[in-house]
Amino acid sequence: LVVLDHVDKWFGELHVLQDINMSIARGEVVVVIGPSGSGKSTLCRTINRLETIDKGTITLDGKPLPAEGKALAAHRAEVGMVFQSFNLFAHKTILENVTLGPIKVRGTDKAAAEKQARQLLDRVGVGNQADKYPAQLSGGQQQRVAIARALAMEPKVMLFDEPTSALDPEMIKEVLDVMVDLAQGGMTMVVVTHEMGFARTAADRVVFMADGQVVEENTPDEFFSNAQSGRAQDFLSKIL
Ligand code: ATP
Ligand code: MG
Repeated sequence: LVVLDHVDKWFGELHVLQDINMSIARGEVVVVIGPSGSGKSTLCRTINRLETIDKGTITLDGKPLPAEGKALAAHRAEVGMVFQSFNLFAHKTILENVTLGPIKVRGTDKAAAEKQARQLLDRVGVGNQADKYPAQLSGGQQQRVAIARALAMEPKVMLFDEPTSALDPEMIKEVLDVMVDLAQGGMTMVVVTHEMGFARTAADRVVFMADGQVVEENTPDEFFSNAQSGRAQDFLSKIL
């Protein structure tokens, strides 16, 4: 579904993505881990074309990512993104946060968008918060709204960049539970996270990055019990 082929990117002198080759199948859940600064966020952002690449190609459903204009907006609608900071619109209600994209980008009529939004909010467990504003919700609730907002666009793939790392411990599980549910429902997902429980439960594959390179990838079982590279062993010894 998503294919990165010999992708390179530089930030000035910094070779932040180095010959990345990755193929994410429909329905696959890929967890990306690695030390700080290894390029995980940049990788996610290139798939959404929030960052351009300098070499190689990225395709979604066989089509190269569009560079600009309406085609780019359409592409972004197909790639849902959830960030560490929830980035909800502070002056809009929870319901409006979720309906805005479908109404503006997809041209869905308001009643249909609201019906769908309420279903999604129920699904992530915040159906009773629809008329509140983001600041009235806990971090875990806001992040679940952010997930519902991304899902409202009916994306082909969902990208998560450390979705739980800004949350208090007691709220992490409620967000991870929603993500596990999505994964089991067949959503294609790329998840940057250090939540190894999530990786073990939901990931089909773990990709370990360091210094802009994919150092190794494997099933979670194999990776956690039998990491091959020194870098990965060293990293795991620090987080497990
Ligand atoms: P973390 O675990 O801390 O989130 P990461 O693996 O997500 O790290 P990236 O955010 O992708 O790492 O950053 C990779 C490298 O690129 C870092 O050295 C970072 O300082 C640098 N970098 C990221 N964004 C930019 C930018 N817009 N301009 C210049 N350098 C950048
Ligand atoms: Mg990051």
